[in-house]
Amino acid sequence: MKYIGAHVSAAGGVENAPLNAKEIEANAFALFTKNQRQWSAPPLTAESISAFNANCEKAGIKPEHILPHDSYLINLGHPSEQQIIKSRISFTEEMTRCQQLGLQLLNFHPGSHLNEITIEECLNRVAESINIALDKTSGVTAVIENTAGQGSNVGYEFEHLAYIIDRVEDKSRVGVCIDTCHTYSAGYDFVNDYDGVFKKFDEIIGFKYLRGVHLNDTKKAFASRVDRHDNIGIGLIGREFFTKIMNDQRFDDIPIILETPDETLWKEEIAWLRSQIR
Ligand SMILES: [Zn+2]
Ligand SMILES: [Zn+2]
Repeated sequence: MKYIGAHVSAAGGVENAPLNAKEIEANAFALFTKNQRQWSAPPLTAESISAFNANCEKAGIKPEHILPHDSYLINLGHPSEQQIIKSRISFTEEMTRCQQLGLQLLNFHPGSHLNEITIEECLNRVAESINIALDKTSGVTAVIENTAGQGSNVGYEFEHLAYIIDRVEDKSRVGVCIDTCHTYSAGYDFVNDYDGVFKKFDEIIGFKYLRGVHLNDTKKAFASRVDRHDNIGIGLIGREFFTKIMNDQRFDDIPIILETPDETLWKEEIAWLRSQIR
């Protein structure tokens, strides 16, 4: 079965996110468990946690179909010792928040080398950061998202994600999220070679590590290495690819999340995606 939703607002408290998901008839969703542009946040209250759980139940959405996203400030591959410590503390706090909410996944962008260290050194740092966070938490899987390779971001080649996974000690708590906009922008042509791209993904990373999908069209050209999402069917990827995903059982039972820019279209997009399932 397909579980489709969007990255919904948690304004006013995390407990509002499942209600916003219900509004667009989603059976999955993503959220920030704190303000994504700030380092620290007040701890989750017991009231907020229980309201979150009650609202998820009301919306009929299970923890395994909820894909929280970490703060944009965190860089788990930061070249500076001082800065990476800050990121590691913040990431561990985010994992803890997920654990407190009874969630099972935390999605994040691997990191950036900032032109100060090599890609390999950066990936080593990311793996070490994940090991530290997994050590201090339990029950939450670290879900690494592939990137478009914009700026000095690592994670734009499937090999980068495989390299990180290889160095994570607890393989049962590491996974990946494929962002379709990023994949296409990074130079994987699934429009003309759907089978080839996902065969490559399976060989290099493995579908057994796939814990979520960000379903986005793109405003920027193939292999542009620029990260600009577009709404489904409006961007350059085109509808046919999304119809294929909807009918590919390898994407069953994981959260499939829209991060498309015009959120007034989300309800319609979800309904259209479901209508494509044969
Ligand atoms: Zn994404
Ligand atoms: Zn993106």
